Amino acid sequence: MRRLALLTALLAPLAAQGFTLDAPIEQGRLIRGQTSPNATILLDGKTLPVTPDGKFVFGLARDAAGTITLTENGAATVLPIAARAWDIQRIEGLPPGKVNPDPEGLKRIQREAALIKAARSQVTNLAGFADAFRWPANGRISGIYGSQRILNGEPRSPHLGLDIAGPTGTAIRAPAAGRVVLAEPDLFFTGRTVMIDHGHGVGSIFAHLSASSVTVGQVIAAGQEIGAIGATGRVTGPHLHWGVYWGAVTLDPQPLMPTPAPAPLP
Ligand SMILES: [Zn+2]
Repeated sequence: MRRLALLTALLAPLAAQGFTLDAPIEQGRLIRGQTSPNATILLDGKTLPVTPDGKFVFGLARDAAGTITLTENGAATVLPIAARAWDIQRIEGLPPGKVNPDPEGLKRIQREAALIKAARSQVTNLAGFADAFRWPANGRISGIYGSQRILNGEPRSPHLGLDIAGPTGTAIRAPAAGRVVLAEPDLFFTGRTVMIDHGHGVGSIFAHLSASSVTVGQVIAAGQEIGAIGATGRVTGPHLHWGVYWGAVTLDPQPLMPTPAPAPLP
């Protein structure tokens, strides 16, 4: 009830509109909205799919800036995007070939990036995105979203996911319902990799797995086991890298969690 009161207070300025949002308009956020059934919703002029019961979703990139415009049944609301501060994370001891890949490695990376991009570009009417997300694994948070990365002393792209370190073999469970859209045994950066579509362009990627038996097309329930923590791909030790995306936009999984740290799994 406290949470509800907080949300109500947070959303009060939007009361004039018919829609409500479940998160602040902030960099890296997955934002789920509720409008009336059959309403039309546009984000910056582009139509968002709405479920039969009025749910919609969108996300804001790590470096999103300025404002967004949500238009509901023709009425526009302009909302400013709040900026966040990002950490710097230094990682030493990575295999040099995984930080500065050779030409063959670069070709492989390109091929694999296309696979991942194709999996991310699917927009389905699955409704798992509206679930209350749960921790996908028990363990210690060893890397957070947004950090500027310095790998073996060299600046690299920011870290766009959440790392949960745990012993190899630790169960990984789907944080929300969906369908498997990618299951690859050995990608250059992400090792054994599984991707789950949660619907409306939202999905999860699970990387560095030691094992997984799910197959593309398989329907997955929230909480269902989909694999195990491992140390495959570009890693210094066993952990799960969990990414959440909305199409091409990669989001911060942590604010979706019910508790600040992973709770022991049953
Ligand atoms: Zn990671």
